[in-house]
Amino acid sequence: MLNIVLFGPPGAGKGTQSTRLLEKYGLVHLSTGDILRAEINAGTVLGLTAKSLIDKGELVPDEVVIGMIDNKISASANKNGFIFDGFPRTTPQAKALDEVLQKKNTGITCMLALEVPEPELIVRLLERGKVSGRADDQDENTVINRIKVYNESTLPLKDFYKAQEKFAAIHGVGTVDAIFESLCEAIDGVKA
Ligand code: UDP
Ligand code: MG
Repeated sequence: MLNIVLFGPPGAGKGTQSTRLLEKYGLVHLSTGDILRAEINAGTVLGLTAKSLIDKGELVPDEVVIGMIDNKISASANKNGFIFDGFPRTTPQAKALDEVLQKKNTGITCMLALEVPEPELIVRLLERGKVSGRADDQDENTVINRIKVYNESTLPLKDFYKAQEKFAAIHGVGTVDAIFESLCEAIDGVKA
């Protein structure tokens, strides 16, 4: 299986590139952010709890997202692999993901990290907020808090995957096509 962690701060382009990668490599896209937003729209209990955290730019608790991912992986048997977009976000989540995949006799192939400077991220997110309707993209303080939470809780995952020799940095500024090319080169490199 080809199991990719597409990593990067909010606004790095994970969603955009995921769409292209899943088409090219026949993967299943698992975005915990999208799953949580679907729960919010469906008005579930989980959605209600998640909304209050998301609107502040805080993280939903580990056990909640781990449970969601476990269910989705189990529901997609016999696939080529997965793109994990926006997950894992903490070290406990990464460890839990390794365990879930191990039970299916597979594991993470690589982490591809889209690197974009912070001022560019803020511009992109506020721009997206104008069209996405996402409350967490419209408020500058929330955007800044998400980047802070990313730097504190999520960025250490780089070292987690580096230690497993699975980390690759990708320059995330440029055209969507050029960045897609860089991602494909990195994937084809580890596949070969
Ligand atoms: N979120 C979370 N855990 C996840 C995914 C999302 O707590 O695994 C919450 C968090 O508050 C985050 C928001 O949902 O800021 C939006 O997530 P998404 O992945 O869409 O944001 P992105 O980082 O892509 O802008
Ligand atoms: Mg996203």
